[in-house]
Amino acid sequence: MIPPNIKSLILDMDGVLWRGDAPIGDLPRIFARIASRGLAVAFATNNGTRTPEQYAARLASFGVQVEPWQVVTSALAVAELLDRAIPPFPVSEMGGPRGVARPVFAIGEAGVMNALRDKGFEPLPVERAAEAQAVVMGIDRQINFEKMAAAALLVRRGLPFFATNSDKTFPTPRGEIPGAGAWVAVIVTATGVEPIYAGKPAPYLLELARQRLGTPKEETLVVGDRLETDIAGGQAAGMPAALVLSGVSTREQGEAWRPRIDVMAEDLGELVE
Ligand SMILES: [Mg+2]
Repeated sequence: MIPPNIKSLILDMDGVLWRGDAPIGDLPRIFARIASRGLAVAFATNNGTRTPEQYAARLASFGVQVEPWQVVTSALAVAELLDRAIPPFPVSEMGGPRGVARPVFAIGEAGVMNALRDKGFEPLPVERAAEAQAVVMGIDRQINFEKMAAAALLVRRGLPFFATNSDKTFPTPRGEIPGAGAWVAVIVTATGVEPIYAGKPAPYLLELARQRLGTPKEETLVVGDRLETDIAGGQAAGMPAALVLSGVSTREQGEAWRPRIDVMAEDLGELVE
């Protein structure tokens, strides 16, 4: 089912590898099959709450060994975008501001904070938000009125505004709860300013994954279960896309999607057979 020119896969995780805590299919067998076909693999998720190390540990718990570098999240992609937008402090021969972290105000969890620190940013506490050079938003289960107020004030001041992803909801065993996009919408309403989104369907996250794999766009297959994020993102990034029917979108919706999807399969196991 995989087109013969494909050299690498960029896999979405939720709805492709697992649903909640349950793996979809025999994952160790599926990944052995992928390896035997000589396909390189990266993982790309809009969920920026966890770190790549945490995702690698989760995959290991399902019997699949991957390296953290293979996992890219919307948190990593937003830190990458920010790194391009906010130039580092100039290096001083006097040993001046060299190595000084660029201050930002971020709403997010470990995934976002670690990604920012790794890129040389200092996420400021809300009391010091006024010193920030940019605003970053993701999901934060400790979100509160003060953090939202600080973010809105900074965006109104004209600071660069970035967000991990625009997903309106986030699936849980209880049902769909507000996702990053829902929280960002509060700031958009309060300021009239839209952020730059890093996650799918914007191309940055998928492009970061492809750079790590090192394969040309046309030889890199984006695999996901959601048309509006995974498939739209792959198409926006100029890569072929495969829809698996083990998650959100249905075959009927997939057949109606334009531009046409390159491949459709019941699940990842069927796709790689
Ligand atoms: Mg998914």
